[in-house]
Amino acid sequence: DAEVVLVGRSNVGKSTLMRELTGHAVATGGKPGVTRQPNHYDWAAEDFVLTDLPGFGFMSGVSEERREQIKTDVVRYVEEYAEHVLVGVLVVDGKSVIDIIDRHSGPDSIPYDVEMFHFLRDLGIPTVVAVNKMDKVDDRDERLDDLCDRLGLHPPWKQWQDTIAPICAKRGSIDPLTEAVRAHLHEAQRDDL
Ligand code: GDP
Repeated sequence: DAEVVLVGRSNVGKSTLMRELTGHAVATGGKPGVTRQPNHYDWAAEDFVLTDLPGFGFMSGVSEERREQIKTDVVRYVEEYAEHVLVGVLVVDGKSVIDIIDRHSGPDSIPYDVEMFHFLRDLGIPTVVAVNKMDKVDDRDERLDDLCDRLGLHPPWKQWQDTIAPICAKRGSIDPLTEAVRAHLHEAQRDDL
């Protein structure tokens, strides 16, 4: 089946977003890192399967080794099913993403979000960055331009609306994401003809 995959650090609001997209209850909050296995759901609005992959990053009580294993599992899953994956959605927290990326950037280290973005695109998977929690962001345009810069996309972000989708999953404001995903899905279907 054609598939849309969701990846992201833990606590960015991936479960909240999944619930908005699917209309299903998805485990949220409470215990971070609760999603350990790929979870498949039907996307209510389209005939595709949405796959929620385990969140990456700090989780209390989860060892460094276990975290690396989660990351490896996500990468393997995407590589294995790349052929079926029509769109990748990288979910980030708009409030903290720039700080986190900058903190993890160094001569020998690539931040997870940047790594996943390029990893998906290198596999030929069109990727949308769902910039969540925009309700907590004051300097919206500046923040989104900074994100473009960190991802190697030339600002202004407004020219990347198929790639950068500011949303607020908690309030159900996710139209920029569904529109961007649809644009890629329809592109993929046209290529199949
Ligand atoms: P996950 O670990 O990525 O699955 O994250 P969750 O969906 O469990 O959400 C983590 C926290 O972020 C919860 O407290 C959510 O209520 C909160 N959250 C999710 N979406 C939004 C949003 O759009 N705005 C704000 N302010 N908080 C959000």
